[in-house]
Amino acid sequence: MKADGGRLFVCPTPIGNLGDVTARVLEALRQADGVLAEDTRVTRKLLTRYAIETPLERFDEHVAARRTPELVQRLLGGARLALVSEAGTPGISDPGSMLISAALDAGARVEVLPGPSAVVTALVASGLPTHAFYFGGFLPRKAGERSRLLAGLATLDATLIFYESPHRTAASLAALAEAFPARDGAMARELTKLHEEVVRGPLPELAAELADRESLKGEVVLLVGPPGESAPPRARERAAEVREAVEARIAGGLSRTAAVKAVARELGLPRNEVYEIAHTDG
Ligand code: SAM
Repeated sequence: MKADGGRLFVCPTPIGNLGDVTARVLEALRQADGVLAEDTRVTRKLLTRYAIETPLERFDEHVAARRTPELVQRLLGGARLALVSEAGTPGISDPGSMLISAALDAGARVEVLPGPSAVVTALVASGLPTHAFYFGGFLPRKAGERSRLLAGLATLDATLIFYESPHRTAASLAALAEAFPARDGAMARELTKLHEEVVRGPLPELAAELADRESLKGEVVLLVGPPGESAPPRARERAAEVREAVEARIAGGLSRTAAVKAVARELGLPRNEVYEIAHTDG
């Protein structure tokens, strides 16, 4: 088993449907000396289903920093360890990246097996443009931090993707609609599961629809289409005027943020539309 040296197998696991585990992942789990699991109960179910008897070890965010040096030593000593998170790909909004980079830094072999992740599944299921995408993990909970982040992303020519918990979905969609009122979006829920649902449409409509729902259950991904053709029509028609006014304010000593705010007020345009125009070359 250890003849050709230690190795860390990074093993994606299903995000819902237990059938979505690859033959290579099962083989790695079977052949490993140990399985490092974020949630041993969840992983035990998977192993039981496939009659895999490899011992499980706890590896969650609480022990990751403490256990990483010891695990790297074991890899260097010839151990074969399989890393799994609760669901999807380890390291993607889940523990794993610290161990992976420590193992690479120490010269241990790391083999990443491709497999399920909610980010790519949601992107493709949303029907939104896929030429470029930005994955933001979970949106910041604090409103100020969240709007700063969204303002910074306003001109990115990419579909934006965020993970979200069901009870914060309506509030986050409202924030996304406020920041990007002229864009299309999508809410993907319970992907690969019985109650899978993808709701698409202009963000303000999406936010209104979700606000009306009693309660939302399950796991959720929120997506925002790129500026592209859905760029704000009102401000776009006046793009040259907007840009000129913002630049004049900046030349007069205002910060870019203050200039955008002042011009939006003066021209009676939404601030985020002015922001998008001001950050795009004319
Ligand atoms: N490592 C995982 C991956 O590769 O997708 C992500 C783990 S993160 C802790 C959990 C979040 O992923 C959920 O809150 C939800 O936003 C998203 N997610 C996971 N499974 C999902 C599913 N079946 N449908 C929709 N979103 C899902």
